[in-house]
Amino acid sequence: MDRSRRYQDREVQCRVTDSPSAMAALHQKQHHREEGDKTPPAKHYLSLKWAPPKLTVDAPGWDGDIPSDDLDQDDVPGQPLLPCATPDISLFHTPAGYENTTHGRPSIVPPPDDHDGIHQEQDHEFVEVTGVSETEARDLLLNYVSQQCCYGKAAAKNMHIMTIQESHSLYYKLETFAEGRTTSWTYEIYLGQKVEGPLSGKSPLPWEVSVKPDNMFENQVKRVEVPYTACVKSCYVCNATGYNRCYKCLGRGRIRCKFCGGSVHVQHKDIFTRQFCSGCSGTGRIRCRTCHGDGRIPCQICDGYRQLKWFIELCVQFTNHTGEHFVDSTSIPHDLMRQAKGQIALQNGGKRVKPIDSYPNTEICEGSKKLYNIQVNETVNEKILQQKHTLHVVPVAEILYAWNGKIYKFFVYGHDHKIFVPEYPVKCCWGCMIL
Ligand SMILES: [Zn+2]
Ligand SMILES: [Zn+2]
Ligand SMILES: [Zn+2]
Repeated sequence: MDRSRRYQDREVQCRVTDSPSAMAALHQKQHHREEGDKTPPAKHYLSLKWAPPKLTVDAPGWDGDIPSDDLDQDDVPGQPLLPCATPDISLFHTPAGYENTTHGRPSIVPPPDDHDGIHQEQDHEFVEVTGVSETEARDLLLNYVSQQCCYGKAAAKNMHIMTIQESHSLYYKLETFAEGRTTSWTYEIYLGQKVEGPLSGKSPLPWEVSVKPDNMFENQVKRVEVPYTACVKSCYVCNATGYNRCYKCLGRGRIRCKFCGGSVHVQHKDIFTRQFCSGCSGTGRIRCRTCHGDGRIPCQICDGYRQLKWFIELCVQFTNHTGEHFVDSTSIPHDLMRQAKGQIALQNGGKRVKPIDSYPNTEICEGSKKLYNIQVNETVNEKILQQKHTLHVVPVAEILYAWNGKIYKFFVYGHDHKIFVPEYPVKCCWGCMIL
């Protein structure tokens, strides 16, 4: 496609250039305005924007490739096509430490060696946990049943409690809060904003840029411009013209009338005569509504402003890696167990924690070590900021009882004596339906 003529666009009031001296003059003007220059701002940037012409256009302004014939309305795409041009980032100045940075695909920057990363030896002190009183079991079940509209009290009142078996369920949680960093060349429309390039200073290395999370142990993404990497370039899609070929009419400004198919005449249904098509006023073509007949539309990348500010963007992703391990022989759902009020047998945190290795229940020690290794693998390209782990011990009483010749069970768990009843013998849902 011959784009050379685009630069001769008669509507451009101000010629666009990449020459450093011209851009320096632009920045100088902008700088004066920011410094408190009282003169009205120059219309320099506004006049750079390309705008489509008025509604009535008889001849398309697009001067590049066009198809040899009109297109049918149904043939043309309904949505703008994404530009296929790609920017040549090899023309940009790449500071040290950013050699692998590309456009469109984030480049992972592994963290520098972390010598503080070895966990300090921590003594795990575990708290003794007391059990649940057996005598409360019946009252708890009665109370529970009374709150269920369809449960009869008979079984709870008259059940024969066979055994009450007390145990503890263990709920272990390990969290590793880490940050990962990626870089990529990105751009924004240039509207005269601040541009600090390599001449203004030396860019810090990716892990030297200070970015802090708002809250610890919460996922968050922060994006910042790496200092002194910016430059202004002509838009790589429209070559600084501000417009592209209309995606509807492909530059012709007209499309074939769908009523007469371009034949100018239409056949009347009842009368065997032909008449001029009213859809196109007998011309066989209609003006493209997308470009109003001009064949050009504002560039989707620069929105008509012709220039882009390019810079290296640092993306910092804070991730809270979380793992849980339950040691629980009951059928109490884990969701309930997470909310249960238990005793905290262990809770500590720091730059690194040490996996549990001395708890009497070896399953917890194995679970802690396994989760620790998983999270170390997950954070291989990240920098660990904090770790913490907690071991909850939840007292559980499993009550077996007989009613009407059958055996049932329920659980009382937690210090606040929550009850979990997987099945109850006296239910009468018809009562609710009648009410
Ligand atoms: Zn027509
Ligand atoms: Zn068009
Ligand atoms: Zn553009």
